[in-house]
Amino acid sequence: MRAFTYEPQKSRVLFGSGTITEIESEAEQLGVKRLLVLATPEQADQAGQVAQQAEKRVVGMFAGATMHTPTDVTEKAMTSLKQHDADGILAIGGGSTIGLGKAISVRAGLPHIAVPTSYAGSEMTPILGETADGKKLTRRDPSILPATVIYDVDLTLSLPWSMTVTSAMNAMAHAVEALYAKDRNPVVETLAERGIRAFGTSLCVLKSAPDDPDARSDAFFGAWACGTCLGQVSMALHHKLCHVLGGTFDLPHAATHTVILPHVTAFNGMDGQLAAINRSLGGSKPGQALFDLAADLGAPLNLADLGFSQGDIAHAADVAMESPYWNPRPFRRSDIIAILNAALHGERPVG
Ligand code: NAD
Repeated sequence: MRAFTYEPQKSRVLFGSGTITEIESEAEQLGVKRLLVLATPEQADQAGQVAQQAEKRVVGMFAGATMHTPTDVTEKAMTSLKQHDADGILAIGGGSTIGLGKAISVRAGLPHIAVPTSYAGSEMTPILGETADGKKLTRRDPSILPATVIYDVDLTLSLPWSMTVTSAMNAMAHAVEALYAKDRNPVVETLAERGIRAFGTSLCVLKSAPDDPDARSDAFFGAWACGTCLGQVSMALHHKLCHVLGGTFDLPHAATHTVILPHVTAFNGMDGQLAAINRSLGGSKPGQALFDLAADLGAPLNLADLGFSQGDIAHAADVAMESPYWNPRPFRRSDIIAILNAALHGERPVG
């Protein structure tokens, strides 16, 4: 057994169906009396209904969350927080809403209850990525982690199919990079494989029965497992490229992860460490297994469809090389260009 360090995260997790009924008692336990609800404009109605579970404590809603946590939106949310004199945050939504919850809870020093509705996994991480002046900067601090996370599988029934698939691929990306993370540990390796397998089996059911409660529950479990991996260990080239494509080119987060993941996985090779992917998804090449799963589920397979063009590749490679992440396989600018080229055209990876 390799030497390792394991440091559990300090957040409370409730998982199940109908768990939103616990929001009130969780707020009570945290000593929160005045909750500001956060949502995207698209989920304002759904968040309003969920928040009724704690209606006596809800003092207002900011429904302006948007992708990649732009700091100007965070400033507006901070103004709303102060206007409502809130002493706690209830973020209901996907990674964008939870990202905003983190951004304002860490600025104001207030407890954050996260109610995730997608598979992005942000709720389980002490990581905050914020975008300003066209660049996404990420930091990690224990104070960023939500105090309580309430997974209610019923809220994922409304997740559109395209988001279901891309959000699941986004979650699997956390697990894939955890499998070769330089600071990985046996707990994370086990969770990573469980998470990938949970998605592999549940997505095949959800493809024809998107409301299947057991499959939705398995997928949400996968989100918890993969998000926990992301919260525990550091990520590598795949996440770096996605941050560049999201922060600098404003590409959609989950879809970008979906397109890039098979290519970086194939580039990294690491057959031994990535065997968990083929044990979970089938096939014999990790990058191909991820590509074939995405193709089978009707996910986007090329960056061109997401608004990225050949002329963007050189600039993306420059930004990625400015502050590169550690990666198990050393890479040069020319490797990034090759990966982006393959992803631009949606070629099936060889590895
Ligand atoms: P998102 O939160 O932007 O959601 C996309 C759209 O789907 C939004 O309109 C949202 O309202 C809608 N939606 C979400 N759940 C829904 C549901 N159940 N029913 C109907 N509509 C629903 O997308 P995302 O992929 O969940 O999150 C992406 C963001 O999360 C990015 O900004 C990314 O950087 C961040 N993120 C951060 C971390 C972290 O650890 N810091 C991890 C993963 C993702």
